[in-house]
Amino acid sequence: MPGTLFVVATPIGNLEDITLRALRILKEVDLIAAEDTRHTRKLLSHYKISTPLVSYHDHNKEIRAPELISKLQKKINIALVTDAGTPSISDPGFFLVCRAIEADIPIVPIPGVCAAITALSVSGLPSDKFLFVGFLPRKKNKRIEVLQGLKGETKTIIFYESPRRLLATLSELTDIVGDRKGALARELTKHYEEIIRGRLSQIVETVSNRESIKGECTLLIEGKREEEDTSQPLFVEQLHRLQNDPNISLKDAVKIVVEEQGLPRNRVYREALKIWRG
Ligand code: SAM
Repeated sequence: MPGTLFVVATPIGNLEDITLRALRILKEVDLIAAEDTRHTRKLLSHYKISTPLVSYHDHNKEIRAPELISKLQKKINIALVTDAGTPSISDPGFFLVCRAIEADIPIVPIPGVCAAITALSVSGLPSDKFLFVGFLPRKKNKRIEVLQGLKGETKTIIFYESPRRLLATLSELTDIVGDRKGALARELTKHYEEIIRGRLSQIVETVSNRESIKGECTLLIEGKREEEDTSQPLFVEQLHRLQNDPNISLKDAVKIVVEEQGLPRNRVYREALKIWRG
């Protein structure tokens, strides 16, 4: 019999979010394959586990996966962990699991935290049916294509997003799917944990009022409803009202809305252009 590949879920922040079984497996296996060995070493030293570590990440997975499979074939038991949560979910774990399946290696899941499910559980959005999208493509045209494809989706949609791209994604989403309800779950289980719930325009407003937004982010939006809410974001309504005033130019209107609603100037300007051009 070959060794077993244990796919072990680890915390997404709080080190206490790990199961007793996961700790036992991490202690008992011969080797732990970790996405970032420094990161995993903190978890291991917290629990006084001294199992040897080997790095396995996106940039070495093509070389490292066959090496790990060959060890498994020599009866070595290996635990796979990634930086956060459940390996394979939007991380390099998937690649090794597929190679292990091809090689007929026994695979045992050791379940635990997953950021998407943790965020969904407190989002207040329908959780009976949901679609996990993970990371959106980085290239704008590809991203827009994916978002367009999600426009008619009726299930709650879950995205992983980097804080750097968050505002751009929120504004693209609002443009494409409208001002739906959403939730932004940031730094879950950590010291600065925060869940911002509301319409997408309200989340944009909250986020843009910050100097910067940092940390790990999971973004959720409700699916399309039968009676789709066609109401416009508040700032768009305000722009329409200002356009009806003959004494107010496009430039003045943008200035007023940016000052009053604290929204990014680019976004307001883009919307104002559409309205002024009719
Ligand atoms: N395998 C992981 C899981 O089970 O959730 C996800 C790995 S993926 C590379 C990392 C992404 O998960 C982050 O960019 C972020 O979108 C999300 N994430 C991870 N930790 C989080 C946290 N503490 N709060 C909110 N989102 C988190």
